[in-house]
Amino acid sequence: MSEKAGAAVSRDSDDLYERLKAYEGLAAATSGVGKDIVNEPMIRHWCEAMGDTSPAYPETAPPTMLQAWTMGGLSGHTDRSSAYDELFGLLDGGGYTSVVATDCEQEYLKPLCPGDRITFDAVIESVSARKTTKLGTGHFVTTRMDVRANGELAGTHRFRILKYAPARQKPKVQRPRPVINRDNAGFWDGVAEHKLLIQRCGLCRTLRFPWLPGCNACGSQEWEAVEASGAGTVYSYVVMHHPPFPAFDPPYTVGLIELAEGVRMVSNVIGVPYDKVRVGMPVRLEFLRVDEDWELPVFRGTGS
Ligand code: ZN
Repeated sequence: MSEKAGAAVSRDSDDLYERLKAYEGLAAATSGVGKDIVNEPMIRHWCEAMGDTSPAYPETAPPTMLQAWTMGGLSGHTDRSSAYDELFGLLDGGGYTSVVATDCEQEYLKPLCPGDRITFDAVIESVSARKTTKLGTGHFVTTRMDVRANGELAGTHRFRILKYAPARQKPKVQRPRPVINRDNAGFWDGVAEHKLLIQRCGLCRTLRFPWLPGCNACGSQEWEAVEASGAGTVYSYVVMHHPPFPAFDPPYTVGLIELAEGVRMVSNVIGVPYDKVRVGMPVRLEFLRVDEDWELPVFRGTGS
């Protein structure tokens, strides 16, 4: 590790970068041994998880499994080098306490086959100059792992992380997005057109909300969408004080609204102080823009 001779020890960023660079080329892990030889059951599980039906497997292993053979599992590996720990210690000491994996690159030199014994070494390949990203300012650290099968190089796995000091300004947090699927897409299509759509059974005419593929009363899967008038009353409610959720600003009222049509839905009650909301209070539908590209149906207390 080089320290500028004679200079008062300065901990400014250039000095830190010089100290970080000194770790390039040092081992991150040495003499690693795969916990299992390459084997058909692991290959089969991987292919099932990935949906890969290639007939080439499991006689050979999918190349993208490369890293899987080097993983330590719950009990981990003991081959991590002190240099790697020191490098992380320096970065932590510089205030770069957060870490995020950014990307990986792999090269495949020869196929892995059941029975192959895996060994590996890893080297700290590069440490970047200080970079500023949306997450914060920090240094990218690239590690290269050489994976060998029966002593012969079979592939390399490059793994890049960013060690960074979190930006003080928090990124804008968005409201959680609804999960839109085939069963409820019609509802959200209606919201986009400022229509509150409820379902009516095609057989027994029972209204239902939230959207479901079948009727709870008779089981029929025939249905049509009908537009609610937008009138309703507060059937029940809670006022959220705690815990705070990102993108929500407590206290706020979550109401169970009984629509004039008779079905109930959960939404926010707006336009009334949280401590003035009452059961039975009349409310009226409104569409509230919560983000650039979507709106939510909410209910405004009408105060009468
Ligand atoms: Zn029905």
